[in-house]
Amino acid sequence: MAKRSEKKYVYFFGNGKAEGKADMKNLLGGKGANIAEMTNLGIPVPPGFTISTEVCTSYYKNNGKYPAALISQVDAALSKVEKLMGKKFGDPNNPLLFSVRSGARSSMPGMMETVLNVGLTTKTIPGMIKKTGNERFVYDAYRRLLMMYSDVVMEKAVGIEAEDGHGIRHKLEQAMEKIKKKKGCKNDTDLDVDDLKGLCEEFKIIIKETLKKEFPDDPKEQLWGAIAAVFQSWMGKRAISYRKIEKIPAEWGTAVNVQSMVFGNTGDNSATGVAFTRNPATGGNVFFGEWLPNAQGEDVVAGIRTPNPVNNDGKTEDTKHLVSLEEAMPKIYKELFSIQKKLEKHYRDMQDIEFTIEDGRLWMLQTRVGKRNGQAAIRMAVEMAKSRLITKEDAFMRIKPDQIDELLHPGVDPVAEKNGVELAKGLPAGPGGAVGKIVFTADDAVAWANKGEKVILVRNETSPEDVHGMHAAEAILTAKGGMTSHAALVARGWGKCCIVGCSELHIDLENKELHVNGRMLREGEWITLNGTRGRVYEGKLDLIPAAPENNKWYKELLKWADQIRTLKVRTNAETPNDALTARKFGAEGIGLCRTEHMFFEADRIKSVREMILSDTVEGRKKALEKLLPMQKGDFIGIFKAMKGLPVTIRLLDPPLHEFLPHTDSELQSLADEMGVSFDKLNIKNKSLHEFNPMLGHRGCRLGVTYPEIYEMQVQAIMEAACELAKQKVKVIPEIMVPLVGHVKELEMMRELVISVAERVKTEYKAKIQYSIGTMIELPRACVTSDEIAVYADFYSFGTNDLTQTVYGLSRDDAGRFLPYYVEAGILREDPFISIDIEGVGVLMKMAVSKGRKVKKDLKIGICGEHGGEPLSVEFCHNIGLDYVSCSPFRVPIARFSAAQATIKEKIKKEKTSKKK
Ligand code: ADP
Ligand code: MG
Ligand code: MG
Repeated sequence: MAKRSEKKYVYFFGNGKAEGKADMKNLLGGKGANIAEMTNLGIPVPPGFTISTEVCTSYYKNNGKYPAALISQVDAALSKVEKLMGKKFGDPNNPLLFSVRSGARSSMPGMMETVLNVGLTTKTIPGMIKKTGNERFVYDAYRRLLMMYSDVVMEKAVGIEAEDGHGIRHKLEQAMEKIKKKKGCKNDTDLDVDDLKGLCEEFKIIIKETLKKEFPDDPKEQLWGAIAAVFQSWMGKRAISYRKIEKIPAEWGTAVNVQSMVFGNTGDNSATGVAFTRNPATGGNVFFGEWLPNAQGEDVVAGIRTPNPVNNDGKTEDTKHLVSLEEAMPKIYKELFSIQKKLEKHYRDMQDIEFTIEDGRLWMLQTRVGKRNGQAAIRMAVEMAKSRLITKEDAFMRIKPDQIDELLHPGVDPVAEKNGVELAKGLPAGPGGAVGKIVFTADDAVAWANKGEKVILVRNETSPEDVHGMHAAEAILTAKGGMTSHAALVARGWGKCCIVGCSELHIDLENKELHVNGRMLREGEWITLNGTRGRVYEGKLDLIPAAPENNKWYKELLKWADQIRTLKVRTNAETPNDALTARKFGAEGIGLCRTEHMFFEADRIKSVREMILSDTVEGRKKALEKLLPMQKGDFIGIFKAMKGLPVTIRLLDPPLHEFLPHTDSELQSLADEMGVSFDKLNIKNKSLHEFNPMLGHRGCRLGVTYPEIYEMQVQAIMEAACELAKQKVKVIPEIMVPLVGHVKELEMMRELVISVAERVKTEYKAKIQYSIGTMIELPRACVTSDEIAVYADFYSFGTNDLTQTVYGLSRDDAGRFLPYYVEAGILREDPFISIDIEGVGVLMKMAVSKGRKVKKDLKIGICGEHGGEPLSVEFCHNIGLDYVSCSPFRVPIARFSAAQATIKEKIKKEKTSKKK
């Protein structure tokens, strides 16, 4: 159609042949490319043409002027359509009508809506009536044109921002409602010819009054008006802000599809509908859809009448009385059924399709890949791979890690959430939904829970002393703290719903009141949390349960993941219970067992404090002796739970001050118990205070200054291991030294560990393979990794501390400003959530390569919170780590992400080898 010398702007489709095809989305938009593809597949599609996205780009470059060649190319395409249809656009005797449809590369809310029935004028109406013998239908089509055109072309595209309820569409709808009321009819199909005729006249008057412009009565003016409106809408406010969020460049532009009309509103032998080739909510492999007899366009989606199910399979309790298309038009249904099968097979994915039936003839108007929720995504991908419609690799690339997460937690019912009253926003620390009554202290949480109440623990922040209450609560909500705060860590470890850093909360502990955005809630009032989105709601919203263990598709998918991935997945766990949970989720070992969590248990915190507060080595040793059997018991429990799998135990890490009592009365009772004076204890307590404890006396610095602490821990670990070995339980202990910055630190600690371990082994006459490694969590450790590796059997990246020290960010305080950094686009993502690849990541890479240069088989993993975050998992795979370790409930996501990373790497390799 384009002359040889000029650029092609217009692509024709019709009668089984199209100039475009599916892979031309960039040029023809998603809709246009798929319409072309369907045409080429021999599927009935009303003929028409697509104006390319390049016209849109050029339109904006040239201040709203079209390229010179466009008009003639459109005219040529138009007459080709006319010939095919045997009708003429604007012809008074036998008029052809068009729909004008926008079509960006991917469907985009905020773009122009479709205008149907373009070409109806006072001149063509009589011809249409004579030709169809259906006056009612023609006026129904006309009133629709008046509504759509005035709304999208004459109002929105011109940039008129009508207030809610004052837009032209609303006014016209009101006028129509008035007539319906007067006539006492329920549906617009009940209006007769005269009603519609009168309505059209009234519409034109309202349009003129509201928009100060006459509705155009010339077909060409209507057509070009609609085309321009599509281009205009590309720079509309909503479209621009959507593009910003989705990072879609403005240069992409939109295409315009001009297509001959087919009519679903000519009577009861006509219809329109929308369908999915599989159920998008459950993923079930059943054709699923809705239709309406005698209707046009978006009547089905707009919900002006309750649509009928397409087939009998799709009937529910609520719709079983409605007539399905399968019943009403069995022949057409059969044809539709085989077309949808063909489309799914061709596109190798679930399709979302639109169709219209005109006087007993089926036309397809659209097909695209259908949206789906997590459960459906997993089921479809697995079933499609099993039936060989797609490969396993395809299946993995189609599922988002978040969709795996969806299955692991009960969630807030989205419908209930939409109608809920939002109280505040916070950081989504623990996914899922929870409902409970507000309590403000850990003890209250336990007491209420024991009475059978569901509670949500609301705190400014939590500390290890709150753990019992946190456990008893359905969910945890804090006003302060970030994604790695105590509350967040603990909650994620249990897979518990949790929102942190919800700064709009003001807690009045004295009166047990919660003040939030001008509201006041008392203890005992219901709230609902959506921990996946970080939203707090008033009252009790409905939840939908999680049951991944009953989901066979999910289980199959993860089985495949384990076959594909090369990265191992371990868990962070400190109790046998957590360890067992993680094993159930597929963990292949423990990557981090934090011994300090054991120190907080009620039966030993006193001895811990005694140890810390004593002045002499003897005093400390006496207290440590009391701790020894308890720690040993802990390790026996964990080793048993993980039998046969490696367990990495980190020696004591936090600053000692964290274990000390905070109130005078607690200090007094401890003084009484230890038989020393309050004052003496108080002075010692104060002396342990640090200005910056995270950079203070902690990690291996404790081991260097108080070797007896680490000695006790190593003894406990090795005695536990030896005892189990005697019972023929296979144990693989890996002893890990935290916060090493200088090789000498590790050298010294290694000697300490070996001397205790060998002593215990000799005592027990047991053969135990143990290894000694270190956390890599300081920049200096990364930089001197070639020195450190000499004394390490393994490394484990502690990326929480590493991020903190590389960035100079306090992870306990960063929550105050990091969200703004993300919002302002300074950071892609909170670096405590997703590894900062360009900064922290470079140091990690350096540590890996320097370390492996001196020790080729150095085992390297990661145990920071990043170990369960998909992008970070991919990064860990790419830099050659051996494993990631994450909290138990993240294990499935890590397994999935590790498989995805392997596949992505393979695809990338294939691409580069092809280029060569
Ligand atoms: P959206 O992008 O919002 O889905 P469409 O361009 O698909 O918009 O148009 C919406 C609806 O208008 C379609 O589902 C169809 O029912 C109707 N429609 C579009 N083009 C035609 C046509 N040529 N004939 C009949 N109906 C049409
Ligand atoms: Mg559509
Ligand atoms: Mg650390």
